[in-house]
Formats: sequence, C-alpha cells, structure tokens
Amino acid sequence: MRYCIVLILATALLFSASHSQAQTQTKLSTKWEELTAGDFKEAIAKSQGTCLLPFGILEKHGPHLPIGTDLLNVRYVAEHAAQQEYAIIFPEYFAGQIFEARHQPGTIAYSPDLQLRLLQETTDEMARNGCKKVVIINGHGGNEHLLPYFAQTQLYQPHDYVVYVQWGHEATKKVGAEKTGPDWHAGESETSNVLVTHPNLVHMDRANSESGADQKRVHLPDSVYTGIWWYARFPNHYSGDGSTATKEQGEADLQSWINTVVRAIKAIKADDESLKLQTEFYQESAHPLDTAQ
Ligand SMILES: [Zn+2]
Repeated sequence: MRYCIVLILATALLFSASHSQAQTQTKLSTKWEELTAGDFKEAIAKSQGTCLLPFGILEKHGPHLPIGTDLLNVRYVAEHAAQQEYAIIFPEYFAGQIFEARHQPGTIAYSPDLQLRLLQETTDEMARNGCKKVVIINGHGGNEHLLPYFAQTQLYQPHDYVVYVQWGHEATKKVGAEKTGPDWHAGESETSNVLVTHPNLVHMDRANSESGADQKRVHLPDSVYTGIWWYARFPNHYSGDGSTATKEQGEADLQSWINTVVRAIKAIKADDESLKLQTEFYQESAHPLDTAQ
C-alpha cells in the first residue's frame, strides 16, 4: 500500500514536471529580456523579424500620476498586442524629447544628439539581431516631431531594415460628461488609462491639487511655432482634469489602442514593399545622375 502511494506520488510528480516543462517550451515570451539566446532565434522566426520598441518617457504627470506613466501605458498596450499578434518587445526605452518638463522633478531629458544616436544605435542593434522590421510604438506626445524625423533620417545612409513609427489610435467616446478645454496630459483620458494599467499608482485625491487648465499666456497665430508654447499654456505640466477619470473609459480607450497596434503589426508583417523600395532608393541615391529624367 505504502509502495503504491509512493509510486502514485512519483508518477504524479513526474507528470506535472514534464507538463510544466512542456508549457514553458510552448509559450515563447514576447519580452526580449525574458528569452534565452536559443529561444531568441525561434522568436525572430515566429515574429518574422518584427520587433516592437515601445517608447515612453520619464516626466511629471500632473500631481497624481507616476513619472513613468507613458512608459507604463505603452508597454501595457504593446504586451497585450503582442499576445494577439506575436512580436518581440524591446526592454524599457525612455530617451525621448522632453525638454519642456526640465523644470519639474524626475524628468530625464538627454541632449538632442544623444537622443538620435541612442535611438539609431538601438534600432541598428535590434536589426543586427534579426529585427528587420523595427516598430516604434510611441507612447509620449512630446515625441511628435522626433519620431517622424528619426524615420526620415533612415534615408541618409543604407540600412538593411525598416523603421516603422506607429502612433495614435481611434479616439474613444468619453464615458463621462462632455468636457471643455484640452485633455492632453495627465487629464481625464490618461488618468483613466492608468486606472486600468496600474491602479495602485494613481493618487486620485491629489488630482485637483494643481490646475491643469490652459493658461493661454502667449498669443500667436496657429501658423507660428515656439518651443516655449507648452510651458506658456501648461506650466504645471498638467493638461486637463484627472479627477473625472473612470476605469470604464480607460478600458475602452486601451482596447481601441491595443486593436490599433495589432492591426499595425499585421500590416507591417505583410509589408514586403518598404524594404525593397528602400534598397532601390539607396542604390539610386549613390549615383543620382543615373536616375532617369
Ligand atoms: Zn503621458
């Protein structure tokens, strides 16, 4: 009897061990840093060389949200999207454009040339490891000029990979009452998203301790741009009102964002033209006088 129980236990243990081993073997992580070197090769094949670079930032997010809000939210979206459409996700990246928040605690704003160099060397290194389609998923509004510019600079010299910049998603209908004024930074929408992605990091009781109203301190036509425009309008680095945020709104917005990223990954995997045309362009640009006129 005792022998029999031992045998049953041993068999059960063996079975559960081999079962969990099988589970770990079939479930390939989407995160670069979690893969073994051997599994990384498999991941590159499975993703068809498609790798995501979720781009966040470290900056104040009103009086009530964490400094890493953009990084936390964009990674949440990338991770959920990659579960649906497999891609490898590069580790935390936050070396973006955020000079307008240098007067606030916790901001990390690298110099302009380092931002471009670091991003180029990062995508180069990703490509050297088989990521021939590098998809930058932007999570930070302040990168709105940096990222298209970076993508454009890929034409400066030849690369054997394509940089895709994915940004934005369909706006979701607000669950709460209609609001007036901008809701651009740490306001209702973004706070709603953090209520879903990292609810334990939201301090709703502090959301009204500073003003997120547009202070309209400079008066220039829309056709004129200055770097101080944001500080002129939102000196607290807060735009909107986070106190009206709801989890329902966050869930709707994040789902729309995830769906948009999934669609983008699928389209990028299917895109064979960009790399082909890019290669043709590099060849032609080496001797422009031979280009037919
Ligand atoms: Zn943000």
